[in-house]
Amino acid sequence: MASSLVRGKYVICKVNSRTDTQVIEDGAVFQRDGTIIEVGKHQDLAAKHQPDEVIGSAEHVVMPGLVNSHHHIGLTPLQLGAPDLSLELWRARRMAARDVNPYLDTLYSAFELIESGVTTVQHLQARVSGPLERIYGAASEAIRAYQDIGMRLSYSYILMDQNRFVHEEDDDFVKRLPPDIAPEAMKLLRAAAIPLEDNFALFEDLHKNFNHEERVRVQLAPANQHWCSDKSLTMLKEYSDKYRVPMHMHLLESAYQKVYAKRRSGTTAVQHLHDLGLLGPDLTLGHGVWLTEGDIDLAAETGTRICHNASSNLRLRSGIAPLNAFEKRGVRVAIGIDEAGINDDRDMLQEMRLVLNLHREPGMDDTVPTTSQVFRMATEHGAHTTPYGNDIGTLEPGKTADIILMNWKHIAYPYLEQNVPVIDAVVHRARTQGVETVLVGGEAILRDGRFTRLNKEDIIEELAASLRVPLSAGEKHRQQLSIKIFPHLKQFYDGYLDGQTHESFYQMSSKH
Ligand SMILES: [Zn+2]
Repeated sequence: MASSLVRGKYVICKVNSRTDTQVIEDGAVFQRDGTIIEVGKHQDLAAKHQPDEVIGSAEHVVMPGLVNSHHHIGLTPLQLGAPDLSLELWRARRMAARDVNPYLDTLYSAFELIESGVTTVQHLQARVSGPLERIYGAASEAIRAYQDIGMRLSYSYILMDQNRFVHEEDDDFVKRLPPDIAPEAMKLLRAAAIPLEDNFALFEDLHKNFNHEERVRVQLAPANQHWCSDKSLTMLKEYSDKYRVPMHMHLLESAYQKVYAKRRSGTTAVQHLHDLGLLGPDLTLGHGVWLTEGDIDLAAETGTRICHNASSNLRLRSGIAPLNAFEKRGVRVAIGIDEAGINDDRDMLQEMRLVLNLHREPGMDDTVPTTSQVFRMATEHGAHTTPYGNDIGTLEPGKTADIILMNWKHIAYPYLEQNVPVIDAVVHRARTQGVETVLVGGEAILRDGRFTRLNKEDIIEELAASLRVPLSAGEKHRQQLSIKIFPHLKQFYDGYLDGQTHESFYQMSSKH
């Protein structure tokens, strides 16, 4: 490894509060062997250090690498044939997806993430059929993809041990299916499910084999309340404590899940998790659209984190998470693009802008997202949903040198009034085309817009070629089953929300 001086017209170091971001004009970061040694004025640092290399110029803006705190796959569900439907119905269409090479698939979205300034990803893998060895193989391939491209990874394989089709016991649902579908549905279930203990064996193997790697950490991911029995949730907590790893859990993504929670335990999903001892700073709730006022208080009191997946919540008709209420109570919120953003890609800069603008409620009080707040969500708060919480997310001495450089001209040309704060300009105007260089642990994995370790065009062509073959018998079979089972899923949810509320979704999710 080596040292470098990373310089810019502006260096965005860290966010101090929702209205205050620390920016150094004509600044620089000196890093050695991947650790930030000093941050300050370029002039001072250039006089003091003898770096092996100078990266950037007085025409760049330097900032911490972004963290996508909720990610699953490469090719998007739409690319794989699943249109945007209500989440619970969409699952039926997702069953029909083709088998995609996990290594190439992971790289496909990694290219997009890095090009939009993401240096760390929370990869939550799912949907691999058993047995255990097959899942381990897919997990290893996904991890290898990130290692090859040089990205920082927090990896989990999602644990699900019940209610795979709808929000009830699988056997009960399958029993009601017509005789021509039931046996096939049961076969699919058996293929997908692995014994509960195997999930923990998978975690332990992955943790043992990869957690020591410099840019890989392995953590735990309870799928969601309806997908996890109390037994599995309790075990997950035990493993999280034993291995000291955080957990990322989808929760209250849809109104259906809110109703399910009440039916299951007579209380809210958040309260139920609290009763089982899971809440705390080591737990991040993915989505969190349908928390009640009391749930938000509980999240704030316990330090439980939330990952806001705004695009996904819009696309799958889940609702709008009450971000302003989270912020008001001091809940720390990260940003996740989930499977794909509103442009059907993984553009973190655009996702940040969506978060900035989606919650601009009418009025004049300081209650809506600020640019500093959104930047912190995409950096420091995201970092804390992973095991790298203390190492990344800000540019300060002692932190890891995960740094992005954007061309200031892409943001400010042909004109930008002097009084526009740098953080406003970046959050409102930065585009992926302006992201020139991306450093992870001090190493440039993207330099002047080119990937340094892999040939992007060749890999994407390899992915395309791998899918230029006829559907396998298994793939065809899943597609047919998905069409046949769809009306039965829909029927299950008929009347499920009756008696809830007839207010608009936005009002429902903000008022409860
Ligand atoms: Zn998700």
